[in-house]
Amino acid sequence: MGFKVTYLRVDSLGRVNLQDLEKAITRNTILISIMFANNEVGTIQPIEQIGNIARKYNIIFHTDAVQAIGNTRIDVRRLKIDSLSLSSHKFYGPKGVGALYVREGIAFYRQNDGGHQERDKRSGTENTAGIVGTGKAIEMATENLNEYCNHLNNLSEFYLREVNRRIPNIKINGDLSNKVPGNNNICFAGIDGNRLVNELDRRGICVSSGSACSSGLINPSHVLLAMGINENLAKRKFKSKFWKRKYN
Ligand SMILES: *Cc1c(COP(=O)(O)O)cnc(C)c1O
Repeated sequence: MGFKVTYLRVDSLGRVNLQDLEKAITRNTILISIMFANNEVGTIQPIEQIGNIARKYNIIFHTDAVQAIGNTRIDVRRLKIDSLSLSSHKFYGPKGVGALYVREGIAFYRQNDGGHQERDKRSGTENTAGIVGTGKAIEMATENLNEYCNHLNNLSEFYLREVNRRIPNIKINGDLSNKVPGNNNICFAGIDGNRLVNELDRRGICVSSGSACSSGLINPSHVLLAMGINENLAKRKFKSKFWKRKYN
């Protein structure tokens, strides 16, 4: 649509650099959009600081909080978030429904044309069952949020400790001191990702070699590559020759 987009790098833990962000701002910048928490490695971004920068330059701040909602408490006022997107099924609500929060006073133009439902913000007949399900799911998710997070954090801690103790040549990814609970991303050196998924599945353990959005892809995760993890370690699939040589 003729807009110029600047993409920011992330560091080895997957965090954007606030100085980079500030430097990237020009007098034409109208929007900053930064993921709240990453879906592959769980890293939570410095959202409050980003919100402060956006407010300082009077730029609208949007965050994709799909991975964070139901996993952390989010106060859009305190964090100076102008707009936030969420998806219901990530907190055990129904699939195919989500929400966009837009702060009062932020100009908003509908994405699709047609009817004038939802005060002209989104045309099309509302998915009532989905909307009600989303409301109920978020209610339930927030009710027990602290217990839920503590539980997941304890499980994660145990899991990572044991994996670390039992399996050589692994790399645990993401910002362990600041990530969504229950998200664990590990590189296992020299093991075919698909094979690992299948072997674990047979033992009743569900894992994934990538995000569902890229299922079927065998190239390394762009998230891991952006974090500077070397291509071999980030790879989901090794050439079968390599696998045979090493493990058969
Ligand atoms: C899952 C996810 C999406 C996509 O949402 P869907 O409703 O599953 O398409 C977008 N962003 C993040 C961070 C996610 O985790």
